[in-house]
Amino acid sequence: MKIEKDVLKMIQELSDAPGASGFEDEVVNVARTYAAPLGELKEDFMRNLYIYRKENSGNKPVVMLDAHSDEIGFMVHSIKPTGCIRFIPLGGWSKNALVSDKVLVRNAKGEYIPGIIASKPVHFMTAAEKANPSMEISDMVIDIGAVSYEDAVENFHIRIGEPIVPATKFEYDEAHDLMFGKAFDCRIGCAVMLEALRRLEGKELPCDVVAVLSSQEEIGDRGCKIAVNNVKPNIAIVLEGCPADDTFAVGYAIQTAMKKGPMFRHIDVSAICAPRYQRWTLDLAAEKGIPVQESVREGGGNNASVIQTSLLGAPAVVAGVPVRYIHSANGITTNFDFEATVQIVVAMLENLTPEVIASF
Ligand SMILES: [Zn+2]
Repeated sequence: MKIEKDVLKMIQELSDAPGASGFEDEVVNVARTYAAPLGELKEDFMRNLYIYRKENSGNKPVVMLDAHSDEIGFMVHSIKPTGCIRFIPLGGWSKNALVSDKVLVRNAKGEYIPGIIASKPVHFMTAAEKANPSMEISDMVIDIGAVSYEDAVENFHIRIGEPIVPATKFEYDEAHDLMFGKAFDCRIGCAVMLEALRRLEGKELPCDVVAVLSSQEEIGDRGCKIAVNNVKPNIAIVLEGCPADDTFAVGYAIQTAMKKGPMFRHIDVSAICAPRYQRWTLDLAAEKGIPVQESVREGGGNNASVIQTSLLGAPAVVAGVPVRYIHSANGITTNFDFEATVQIVVAMLENLTPEVIASF
């Protein structure tokens, strides 16, 4: 399945854009260029970006499409006398996935400058350190190549409170349909949202659509908590990059494999996805021949829980594009799964009539 050049470029730009939680500006800027022809755009102080589909009637049920724009990252905590940076995590990192990652640190001039999460060379390790090299994040530093505190501040313009993201650059292996990059949680979901809206441009739907790139999901669904008040949805489709388990789980228990389509969770620790709506979605996929997977998650959580329990509540399901090694600096996802997710979202929006919605 060949991917259009423009779509690939959009995924690349979304993936590469630095956007640690609370600092989503550059992701919003990328999304704005692709969303501008699709509807009216609004933004709030949380950096939530709203796309009101231009074909909306104002008298149909409102479907909220949600994809979060932030990625897990870090923040500068302090600068050591050596010029190295102490940092805190923004979102759920595994400490085992960090050491020797290349990162980008935003400085006081707004530039993202390179650094490395430092590891002690083996030459300097004690026997005890060699036996157990694992470090806590609070003991790690980022080395930008400065030689002192003054050098870091005066010449690199480092200051506390600034965001840090992985320096990973997107790559596409067309022969094997593999996308390598960072932040596919949830930039691949953002891309699905924008592409589904593009394919529906000019078409009449049985529902009105408000799409939201919501901020700060990774630190407690904070953007969505505001957005839901502005959108007042009747129903929602939450898009995600979700963790693939096919290189960890044993065969019978694999529920999120790469190249098997989007994963729809029945449950995670934050929500039970509206069961009748979930079943309707799985049946619709079967009827249309769109590959999907279903899962019973023992972890995880996302904006669906906020949407289902805010205001008067709105049923939500979650379409997750499988991503291997999510919440690390390097993930893998595929056009096959991206495309299947776009297709199911389009099919859902074409079939969410007032009667269908009322039946959930
Ligand atoms: Zn996510």
